[in-house]
Amino acid sequence: MTAALAPVLDVQAVRADFPILGQPAGRGGVPLVYLDSAATSQKPRSVIEAETRYYETQNANIHRGVYWLSEQATLAYDAVRARAARFLGARGPEEIVFTRGTTEGINLLASSYTQSFLRPGDEVLVTGMEHHSNIVPWQLAAERAGIVLRHAPVTDAGELDMDAFERMLTGSGRVKLVSVVHVSNALGTINPAARIAELAHAHGAHVLLDGAQSAPHLGVDVAALGCDFFVCSGHKMLGPTGIGLLWGRAELLERLPPWQGGGDMIATVSFEGSTWAPSPQKFEAGTPNIAGVAGLGAALEYLERVGLDAVRAHEHELLEYATARVAEIPGLRVVGTAREKAGVLSFVMDCAHPHDIGTILDLEGVAIRAGHHCTQPLMRRLGVPATARASFALYTTREDVDALVAGLHKVRETFA
Ligand code: PMP
Repeated sequence: MTAALAPVLDVQAVRADFPILGQPAGRGGVPLVYLDSAATSQKPRSVIEAETRYYETQNANIHRGVYWLSEQATLAYDAVRARAARFLGARGPEEIVFTRGTTEGINLLASSYTQSFLRPGDEVLVTGMEHHSNIVPWQLAAERAGIVLRHAPVTDAGELDMDAFERMLTGSGRVKLVSVVHVSNALGTINPAARIAELAHAHGAHVLLDGAQSAPHLGVDVAALGCDFFVCSGHKMLGPTGIGLLWGRAELLERLPPWQGGGDMIATVSFEGSTWAPSPQKFEAGTPNIAGVAGLGAALEYLERVGLDAVRAHEHELLEYATARVAEIPGLRVVGTAREKAGVLSFVMDCAHPHDIGTILDLEGVAIRAGHHCTQPLMRRLGVPATARASFALYTTREDVDALVAGLHKVRETFA
């Protein structure tokens, strides 16, 4: 029997496609060691050029003009919707709504889903490791519509406590929506999304996955995951800022009311009342981020070309290497030791606050994130005010990790 070959990623070839990685973009003009891809990814040249090309050769409003240029812009825009549908494993482009990003996708659902599916007293169940963007919109919906927000606990390792989750799902009989982060931005934990969806459906609840950190790193197939809604952000998956995706089952999207009104989302308008276009147009009021969609299309094409299997294997290998290397730093503790993790390494040191770690590393040209990562309840649960976080992407190298480790030795020399 021959062993299956792991997919291979040529990281140097990938890096050559990212203009910023060749720039002296670290503090003081040193080469940049970028370990903050969970905050936003860097962009390949093809993405930057797709946006420029749109403005230079195709700029016209979509869905409006009878003239050739507008038709071309519309075709290009719709082609990205079709590509996004394939990328996420949707049944068709009608299941893809362009948003501003993950935050907007969740806010859309907190507005529209709440209105059409939830009654006062119904529960939305999240987890203790959610990003604020999967907490606050539901709190606002709770104030507006009287729904109840509950959260399932997280273990010391940073995993979802599945027994407690199941108890909460079944306990009250009122959980209508389970909304869960697929991959934790703060810890890297990969949640068992398919199992969560199976349990939720068995108890009559829909499932929303926050895929901000999974779509760029794991390879997502919404059909295999079995969820009902999925949201992600273009800027974390090599694309531009200000553009994102909401996928929803067509039959559910059809039942949701619009959340913003304006041009392009209507069928008819009169002062007596208006009617809506079918989804997804119903959810895209006003002129959208057309250039951003062009850039996102190029980003998806890039990720498909490299292959998410190769990306995942590369980042996994880096995580293992980095986890082993930071173990050599005295007084450093990794926060988040889930069995299934994506390329995120969160840690604290006994000699220095995470912000001090970030500042010393910055002097070495190493960019990491320090803070609560928009997960204050999770930080509180784990008993840390903040963590330092290094996060990886397809262009991250072992040399980047070595620079991080060298910088962490400097942190110790400075503060210990
Ligand atoms: N959820 C997760 C897990 C995230 O990592 C982020 C971004 N840090 C968001 C939601 C929000 O994404 P955006 O700011 O792009 O809307």
